[in-house]
Amino acid sequence: LNGASLTAAVVDDLAQYFPMCMRQLHTTLRREKKLLHNGRLQYTLFLKGVGLSVDEAVIFWRKSFSRIDDDRFQKEYRYNIRHAYGLEGTRRNYKPLSCQQILTERRPAANQVHGCPYREVAIDNLVIGLAAMGVSDRDVIRHVREDVEAKKYHVACTRVFEYSHAKELKREKEAAGGMARFTENIIHPNEYFTRSFGLKN
Ligand code: SF4
Repeated sequence: LNGASLTAAVVDDLAQYFPMCMRQLHTTLRREKKLLHNGRLQYTLFLKGVGLSVDEAVIFWRKSFSRIDDDRFQKEYRYNIRHAYGLEGTRRNYKPLSCQQILTERRPAANQVHGCPYREVAIDNLVIGLAAMGVSDRDVIRHVREDVEAKKYHVACTRVFEYSHAKELKREKEAAGGMARFTENIIHPNEYFTRSFGLKN
């Protein structure tokens, strides 16, 4: 993945490597053509970490918010995107949010889709989300349910990662002479993405 060539147009293709929190934001954005503030912030910072430049981020959000006119976009949204890149206001260069921040800060209200779905989404809907990620193995789902009930959200996310990348992880382990490289829990959505993209390409 070459950050320099990352354009707004490739985000749809990259979504297959995203953890569930970011897939949820992406799917909602595509379906509703809008995202509320905290969701936009979480997703903007994640895409920044993936390698989207500020100019491409403005293009991405402009096209995604297709129901509003240019004037409103410029006034209400462009500033916030540039702010997240440290180009407006206090000019603080915000980092992509870690799982810990996503799990504990700005918890979502009922109409919002930011946050960590393993924590925020009712279990039956979570199972639907897992199926959309290609995870329908009953044992895996049972373990995810147990993780969630035990409030081990990172463990649930890591379990899903390991299941979704089982073939690639096995190949990697064999190439490393039987040593597993990926044994830690997922603690950052961008780490999930980088690792997923690296394994699948
Ligand atoms: Fe996203 Fe982290 Fe939750 Fe996984 S554990 S869904 S990466 S916030």
